[in-house]
Amino acid sequence: MSTRLQVMKFGGSSVGNAECIARAAQIIAKGAREGRCVAVVSAMSGVTNRLIEAAKTAQAGNGSGATAIMDALRTQHETALGSLVSSEEERERVRQKMEAVLTEGGRFCEGTALLRELSPRTLDAISSLGERLSAPLVAAAVRELGLPSEAIEATDLIVTDEFHGGAEPNMDRTRGKSQTRLLPLLERGIVPVVTGFLGASEQGELTTLGRGGSDYSATILGAALDADEVIIWTDVEGVLTADPRLVAEAQSIPEISYREAAELAYFGAKVLHPKTLRPVAQAAIPVWIRNSFAPDKPGTKITPQGQSKGGGVKALTAIQDVTLISVGGPGIVGLPDVVGRTFSTTAEVRANVLLISQSSSQNDICFGVSSADLQRTVDALRREFAQDLDHHKVEHIRVDPHIAIVAVVGQNMCGTPGIAGRTFNAMGEAGVNIIAIAQGSSETNISFVIEEKSIVPALRTLHREFGLHKSAD
Ligand code: ASP
Ligand code: MG
Repeated sequence: MSTRLQVMKFGGSSVGNAECIARAAQIIAKGAREGRCVAVVSAMSGVTNRLIEAAKTAQAGNGSGATAIMDALRTQHETALGSLVSSEEERERVRQKMEAVLTEGGRFCEGTALLRELSPRTLDAISSLGERLSAPLVAAAVRELGLPSEAIEATDLIVTDEFHGGAEPNMDRTRGKSQTRLLPLLERGIVPVVTGFLGASEQGELTTLGRGGSDYSATILGAALDADEVIIWTDVEGVLTADPRLVAEAQSIPEISYREAAELAYFGAKVLHPKTLRPVAQAAIPVWIRNSFAPDKPGTKITPQGQSKGGGVKALTAIQDVTLISVGGPGIVGLPDVVGRTFSTTAEVRANVLLISQSSSQNDICFGVSSADLQRTVDALRREFAQDLDHHKVEHIRVDPHIAIVAVVGQNMCGTPGIAGRTFNAMGEAGVNIIAIAQGSSETNISFVIEEKSIVPALRTLHREFGLHKSAD
């Protein structure tokens, strides 16, 4: 007899101020009237960054600086509360709830300032305060619309390992806890509004799932509750064929596969946290990306197969904050372990390697890493190859920061001949110089490295070449 269950996640910009929260509440209420609905919310936009700033300010010993940030956050949330909730009594109740969270945060900052020490565990406790403040606000806004609603902290639902700052869920335990806590509420017609981004270890210690992790929270809960669908409400109209700031003709894609979406997320299309699709893939739960500012638009549906008609390329993406590192020179020819040592080193420093290419003469291995990982990767490589560098076996470790990686993505590219030819022909005609190329054997993407300054002509040319502006297939 159980009715349809939706898990809906609202990103920071979708709960960015009172007006946005009211709009989100309308969407939640509509969902809850049509079936069962669990909401998952991010912090109001910008709040997580400010909290991290408060934590770092405290770590530097500046306790009053941290307090000032907390005070500004109090004002921001109380202002939103003031315009969302009409009854004085209800306002006071929610205000007290938020105050308890802020007081807790204040204590974490004081402790940090006193010790001038910020452990990953304390940083998690501070950076997750934003979700613990936004959930009560959103639940209050839903109640304003006449529907019973309750804010729930995900520490009661999502059980994770102890990797602070990027925790992974234990799905079995999460399933048990989420069902026990949420299903009875849904049974009674109460809409749970769950804090995104956070969970708790087996020992009950608060953890976070990594920046942007609320998407992941939503699919973890979707899988744990056997939801019929997960809807990620954000500020763009779904997954686009390219970044609209770079390609004006970019279109929203009606349906794509898990695979394609994951590929795009990995290559920096900022719609989804890269881990988002993992929890739902096995149960084949569809995930929608929709625009909370234009709820009538259909958005993009992510399904196991995607849409099978239409061939080839679905979307393009470009990553700009990457650096190309080359390890090589003629001296490494014949050294059997250079590749192994290079990538054990990147793994050791947990560098995010986005693309690898090696020439057949073996005198160059080059790979792209996020610029944020650059320094520690190069330092570690210099240490690893110190002796070889001395003996000139490895002639150089070269770094090129002025590059971008372009990826041409599409599941149906697999087995379709000619896509690589068309891609590089078009690049040649547009005068774009290709520095390195990689295509995985899965054939769902062709990626290549170009000079940073060529991003716009490269993307525009490819968008036209593959007819993506009429991407209704
Ligand atoms: N508020 C967190 C962040 O900004 C999580 C999220 O928004 O998904 O990273
Ligand atoms: Mg966010």
